[in-house]
Amino acid sequence: MSHTPVAIIGAGPAGLTLSHLLHQHGVESVIFESRSREDVEETVRAGVLEQGTMNLMRETGVGERMDREADIDEAIDISIDGLRTRIELTELTGHQMAVYPQHEYLKDFIAKRIADGGTIYFNTSVDEVSGYDGDRVTVSYTDEKGESQTLTSDYVVAGDGSKSPYRKPVLELDGAVRDRHEYPYAWFGILVNAPQTQKELIYATHDQGFALISTRTETVQRYYLQCNPDDTVEQWSDDRIWSELHARVDSADLQVSEGEIFDKAVLRFRSAVTDPMQRGRLFLAGDAAHTVPPTGAKGLNLAVADVAVLAPALARAVKRNNRDLLDRYSALAVPRIWKAQHFSYWMSSMLHSVPGDPHFQHQRRLAELESVLATEAGRTYLAQQYVGKDLPTFEV
Ligand SMILES: Cc1cc2nc3c(=O)[nH]c(=O)nc-3n(C[C@H](O)[C@H](O)[C@H](O)COP(=O)(O)OP(=O)(O)OC[C@H]3O[C@@H](n4cnc5c(N)ncnc54)[C@H](O)[C@@H]3O)c2cc1C
Repeated sequence: MSHTPVAIIGAGPAGLTLSHLLHQHGVESVIFESRSREDVEETVRAGVLEQGTMNLMRETGVGERMDREADIDEAIDISIDGLRTRIELTELTGHQMAVYPQHEYLKDFIAKRIADGGTIYFNTSVDEVSGYDGDRVTVSYTDEKGESQTLTSDYVVAGDGSKSPYRKPVLELDGAVRDRHEYPYAWFGILVNAPQTQKELIYATHDQGFALISTRTETVQRYYLQCNPDDTVEQWSDDRIWSELHARVDSADLQVSEGEIFDKAVLRFRSAVTDPMQRGRLFLAGDAAHTVPPTGAKGLNLAVADVAVLAPALARAVKRNNRDLLDRYSALAVPRIWKAQHFSYWMSSMLHSVPGDPHFQHQRRLAELESVLATEAGRTYLAQQYVGKDLPTFEV
């Protein structure tokens, strides 16, 4: 049976970033990923990198392609019934953000891990993890040939996404909680082969509902429309999609660019926070521990923020046999998660009209949004929350 200091479940942003940072600290790890490398590298999801995430990539030698290819944005637009207000992110905060698709981020980290001699087992599912309350963890997995194998580790990190079964043992601890919130709306997301509508993102609110215009590459655009959580893809014909997008976003000087729609999906809105995010030698990171609605563009960035704490904490434990930082992992990570929850909830509530809401609520919501946009203090607050705080750093 082989052994590794840190076993990591999942080659998403949490798992890959963690493995890379551990390597930087001189600690090796093994990543298990149930999907193929091609699948991981082709699945389109999030697309916004905060300044802290960009800095981490640059400072640890993974930022070259991002610097070359990402759209570096210094502003976003918020539109009310077609009237756009620019939020000057960089002018108001000194920070930028990058529009760089999650799968490109993952490609860079996979390539770097492999170039650095790291171990990623693709097509390999972890079936069970045991021993985390004792001295040594045992990870049981099915390898790419379909054979059952085991590996031991000093620590195990579940970076296996929102359906992680490893929350369950953490939630068995006394005082452990999972706070959840469901939203009365969802996003209908499409991917389109089309030129950019505009370089910067547009968050649009309208009587017919919310819409988001974002870009993935110069020729692939990601558009979202507010829909009902129970809507199905079949209910949204191409004609209906274009007519709603034009109604919610277009203005005299801007028209949503159309093209061939090659992906349609309903994205449900959920908030969830698990606290603590650890039990013995088992740690949760990224969506395994928390989920945010996509409005604030925080999902990927929060996964990176978790492992910015977890990597030095694990390195200190492995190299110096010192668990002080590791024992404080949840206490250090959870406050940032709640701030991201608050921002995502606040942006979502201000920008979405809730079907059946009394007229009072509708007017109050618009008044709140207009007040935020009309004052420099309001725009600065929104910009600060949107670009996020710098990532924490710790000595190993
Ligand atoms: C359709 C979609 C669209 C999104 N859009 C946005 C957006 O626009 N903006 C935004 O900020 N966020 C968005 N998000 C959220 C963002 O993508 C996530 O927050 C981010 O991927 C979290 O990273 P993670 O590493 O924690 O988990 P994941 O990226 O989910 O990675 C988990 C990995 O673990 C693997 N895995 C699971 N179980 C096992 C197992 N037993 N053994 C081995 N491997 C396993 C999975 O295959 C997966 O590759 C979106 C999410 C989805 C699903």
